[in-house]
Amino acid sequence: MRIDIITCLPKLLDSFFAQSILKRAQDKQLAEVCVHDLRDYTTYNHKQVDDYAYGGGAGMVLMIEPIDNCLKALKKDRTYDAIIYMSPDGELFNQKAANKLSLLHNIIILCGHYKGVDERVRKHFITHEISIGDYVLSGGELPAAIVSDAVIRLIPGVLSDETSALTDSFQDDLLAPPVYTRPADYQGIKVPDILLSGHEGQIEKWRHDKAVERTSQRRPDLLKDRNA
Ligand code: SAH
Repeated sequence: MRIDIITCLPKLLDSFFAQSILKRAQDKQLAEVCVHDLRDYTTYNHKQVDDYAYGGGAGMVLMIEPIDNCLKALKKDRTYDAIIYMSPDGELFNQKAANKLSLLHNIIILCGHYKGVDERVRKHFITHEISIGDYVLSGGELPAAIVSDAVIRLIPGVLSDETSALTDSFQDDLLAPPVYTRPADYQGIKVPDILLSGHEGQIEKWRHDKAVERTSQRRPDLLKDRNA
């Protein structure tokens, strides 16, 4: 999978993708993330990429021309399955959406800034609009990083234990069961005996029961989806 991210603040993203699982995914050539500086695609003076909104009002708007130039340059080299704009009024992102995106090969994510992007970009160039939650951030970089992280860790081979992503919260509409590690007894606070018993079948059943219990306590709405 290749993700091309278009932003006017590329430095915000560089360190995020240079660490941990996302770095490993790229080292193993399972995913490639390329960050593009919108300012490299403007023909305006002083690398300008935004301007005042028509009709007045506070806040700058990202202009259509540099975005179009950047998209055209990217599309010369490959065909994209999705051109996503991160936006608080987009479709709410969740694990199901991450699963769907993880099946695609080439994705572009456009990060807005200031007041957002010229509406004509959204109407004519964008295929998906995604929100990461009902709050407003100052730019689309963190949302783009969140979506990329959630998607890339689902690609087979990215996580060292392949089943690990499948047992995370929200897969199967269940929250994850509690997990423990050494020591088994920390100053009298103990790990449940069952996990030390070595009975694989019973441990699996315990985990499933705990997942259902936790989900019914914290997110009963998920169980309704599961039974639907
Ligand atoms: N004026 C816009 C908000 C602009 S915020 C509005 O009221 O809807 C600036 C940029 O940050 C947006 O263009 C978007 O790319 C990003 N952004 C902010 N909050 C976001 C969220 N919850 N989900 C996804 N992107 C978001």
